[in-house]
Amino acid sequence: MTVDGHKETLEFQAEVSQVLNLVIRSLYSNKEIFLRELISNASDAAEKLRFEALTDDALYEEDPSLNIRVSFDKEKKTVTIEDNGIGMSRQEVTETIGTIASSGTKKFLEALGNKGDDSAASQSQLIGQFGVGFYSAFIVADKVTLQTRRAGLGKEHGVRWESTGEGAYTIETTEKAGRGTSITLHLREDEGEFLEGYRLRSIISKFSDHISIPIEMLKEHYATEEDDKEEEKAPEWEQVNKGTALWMRNKSDITDEEYNEFYKHIAHDFEDPLDQVHNRVEGTNEYTALMYIPSRAPFDLWERDQKHGVKLYVRRVFIMDEAEKLMPHYLRFVKGVVDSDALPLNVSREILQHDKKIDSIRTASTKRILGLLEKIAKNDGEKYQKFWKEFGRVMKEGPAEDYANKEKIAGLLRFATTKSEGKEETVSLDQYIERMQEKQDKIYYITADSYAAARHSPHLEVFNTKDVEVLLLTDRVDEWLVSHLHEYKGKSLQSVAKGQLDLGDIEDKEALEKVAEEHKGLLDRVKAVLGDDVKEVRVSSRLTESPACLVADEHDMGANLQRMLKQLGQEAPTTKPIFELNLKHPLVEKMDQEPDEDRFADLSRVLLDQATLAEGGQLEDPAAFVHRLNKLMLSLSA
Ligand code: ADP
Repeated sequence: MTVDGHKETLEFQAEVSQVLNLVIRSLYSNKEIFLRELISNASDAAEKLRFEALTDDALYEEDPSLNIRVSFDKEKKTVTIEDNGIGMSRQEVTETIGTIASSGTKKFLEALGNKGDDSAASQSQLIGQFGVGFYSAFIVADKVTLQTRRAGLGKEHGVRWESTGEGAYTIETTEKAGRGTSITLHLREDEGEFLEGYRLRSIISKFSDHISIPIEMLKEHYATEEDDKEEEKAPEWEQVNKGTALWMRNKSDITDEEYNEFYKHIAHDFEDPLDQVHNRVEGTNEYTALMYIPSRAPFDLWERDQKHGVKLYVRRVFIMDEAEKLMPHYLRFVKGVVDSDALPLNVSREILQHDKKIDSIRTASTKRILGLLEKIAKNDGEKYQKFWKEFGRVMKEGPAEDYANKEKIAGLLRFATTKSEGKEETVSLDQYIERMQEKQDKIYYITADSYAAARHSPHLEVFNTKDVEVLLLTDRVDEWLVSHLHEYKGKSLQSVAKGQLDLGDIEDKEALEKVAEEHKGLLDRVKAVLGDDVKEVRVSSRLTESPACLVADEHDMGANLQRMLKQLGQEAPTTKPIFELNLKHPLVEKMDQEPDEDRFADLSRVLLDQATLAEGGQLEDPAAFVHRLNKLMLSLSA
């Protein structure tokens, strides 16, 4: 180990170099965003300091005015972004700048690799999902020098980090008088455009007007040439951004572009959001909320520790990123700001846990997001479809998590069905209900682990014949969904592979009972062969083409869920399936006439195994199945 203070040269994590190369290549056409990213980080650092100083005033080091300063040096060809925020210790620099801290980095890079499409456009979309932050500096710089000191540590605890972005960086401890971070970009040869005050100033007001921390530039840096000739003066800094928190402004005064830029700032996203809701709530629990729905799912949507969600502010002071307190888990993709006038500034995580005001903000915000989604679904189907593609799977967690809004969420769900085209999920439950058969009173669904298995399942035969629509559920989360969503608008949801089919008057019940009576002998004979492998053998009303199928008893766990749990290594109750025979099928008719007990047993077993295979299950003894089948085939040709 090198002793703290020494200059060390360290290798980047392998992934960092890879990400850097991608960033430079794919974001080049949009290179000015480096300034937005670095200013966003600086503003986060200033807000963190303000929050920590609430309980430890000494962190201000007698200088409580926070600012971000942007300057450049034409001769040295550098641009510097400097903040007097929280700063970083040496360890923090190594941990956050030398590595890409997210556990999903590897996965992200794999996703890039797998795409097989390395056009800059497609890569920049993916990079956008990932968020590059600090590393965007290397789009325009071939060397970056970062100097920082954590607020509250003595001036000898400064840290200097430098890298050309090619595999390694150096880090050393130095003196730094002021707290906070300064980042100097040594611009690449062709990036002279950023050595112009006007250019920088216009980028700042485009991207960062809404940031409440003042962003300052030297007055002389955007003076005209005549002013330039004046004699030397002490440097005069001037604020260049508007500096009012965007969410506090009047809705009608905010342009779409401003909303979009603010979104990119808080979400560290490169794409415009899909939509937003912005509103102020008056009364005893006053607050303002500005919440966005992103256009694209971040690649870490399924990771446990998500960074950027809904931020909590109290009277314009940033308190914390507390997505889970302000949004239910199934809406974790929502980004934004809640700024409360009613909470105390020294609110802690523990207080938040049990705070009634937070609860009511969460309840109202949830309703507002669901309302926004309903509005989009109603007014702009295409846009809603875009949303569903990105976030549908997360929304399906909703009915289990949010009992109070179950019906609302259910109305927002979309499914593939036997009447929709392809696997795309486009059908709502309302649409389903609208086109139900006259005497149909249930919403039917099938779960399977692939679209093909669901679409071609023998369980659908009678539904196809009778033109009854069935939802095709093939996401893992669908099993979870249907175990919590039992009905919608008074219509119960029913698995087509469970219980006795009751298609109401659509099917002829009496006829079925009569047939069962007539064939009792056959059913008993099959049951005798299969023994405890099946719970019951009965006549099927589901099949028109296949000879047999398996179904679960009404209250037993379905076969798909059992298989899924087993795959996940979890305990699943092993319930026996019910074996249903299609008495109109020639094979079954033949079986009924079979005098040879051995052959009858083989036929029964083969039908059972086939039924298992047809619904996507696995055979316990595949070799035995093949053996029996071959035996039967041989006897055919005899
Ligand atoms: P992100 O902002 O998405 O976390 P970045 O790569 O931009 O990713 O930054 C990584 C981390 O480095 C930040 O989370 C923060 O902890 C630290 N950091 C970056 N810039 C600054 C700064 N100006 N002051 C203090 N810390 C910073």
